[in-house]
Amino acid sequence: MAYLKIYKDNFLHNLSLAAAKTASMEKVAIVLKDNAYGHGLELIAPLTAHAGIKHAVVRNEKEALKIKDLFATILLLNPAARLLPPHLHQSANSMEQLRILPKGSSVELKVDTGMHRNGLQPAQIDEALALIEQKGLRLKGIFTHYRSADILSSEHFWQKQNFAAIKNKYARTGVRFHSANSAALFRDGDFDEDIARVGIAAYGYIDYEPGLEKPPLQPVMQLWAKKIATSNLQKGQRIGYGGIFAAPRECTVSTYDAGYADGVFRSNPGDPITLANGEKVLGKVSMDSLSAYGNSEELCIFDDASVLAKHFNTISYEILVSMKEGCERIVV
Ligand SMILES: *Cc1c(COP(=O)(O)O)cnc(C)c1O
Repeated sequence: MAYLKIYKDNFLHNLSLAAAKTASMEKVAIVLKDNAYGHGLELIAPLTAHAGIKHAVVRNEKEALKIKDLFATILLLNPAARLLPPHLHQSANSMEQLRILPKGSSVELKVDTGMHRNGLQPAQIDEALALIEQKGLRLKGIFTHYRSADILSSEHFWQKQNFAAIKNKYARTGVRFHSANSAALFRDGDFDEDIARVGIAAYGYIDYEPGLEKPPLQPVMQLWAKKIATSNLQKGQRIGYGGIFAAPRECTVSTYDAGYADGVFRSNPGDPITLANGEKVLGKVSMDSLSAYGNSEELCIFDDASVLAKHFNTISYEILVSMKEGCERIVV
């Protein structure tokens, strides 16, 4: 079976670069949503906690409950709408979501400072605070999310200004304020909030636009496959579905047990991906296998998701979260 190698030291290195920007591990909130960006929630969470990280961010209740004993707080980006232990903070992304939280729930208000995806409008915060009081909820934080922290423009700065005004106005609540994702944390030199929500950088990537300097992060994940069979092809013999690749000369090729069911996209088979060893995949990717030159016992499909992301005109995030939950993960 295809399997994932998870490089622990690279992960710890990335966390320490983030902690250097926040000035402490305790201010880095690790984002573990979507199976820790495909790396394996139940594998990454303990490594993180062991490194001294106290705060985590997840997508939902299901993820939070799997790791609830490892962190001082866990922020659920989507509220569960039922009473959870007090250290599980439920986001309210709208007034509707605030209304359905049961009495006693810990809540963090997500404020829309310009992304216009979700969050309360700044003008709704007073109403939200009144509702929190009236319903007996516990306000724990006020946060926002940036739409352009990875883009070279002034967009990021006006959104920061908008949040600064909110921090000022509601400082009296005494709750935690946070806004930075990976791109903002590493881009800005003035981090002074209670936590930064670090996702992609912890896993080794920041997809900055050219012009923004990328920190020396190290990719944490590699996808490997094992050999199924080797054959010697004559010149002109063709491999795989549709036979789109013809051997240019006599050669040795092998089939490996990773395919699009494992997240190796089949898209645009006429323009195959480049493997970690610099060779191209030969022909179309099958559901559970692909072919490559040589006869090595194992083949590294990728050790840098940004190479594949570039190939598929997407972002590293999408390559990483395409790795299946059922795939074996080995900590190296
Ligand atoms: C996913 C997410 C993050 C993490 O973003 P990265 O770019 O991976 O660092 C932070 N905050 C929110 C609200 C998110 O949804």
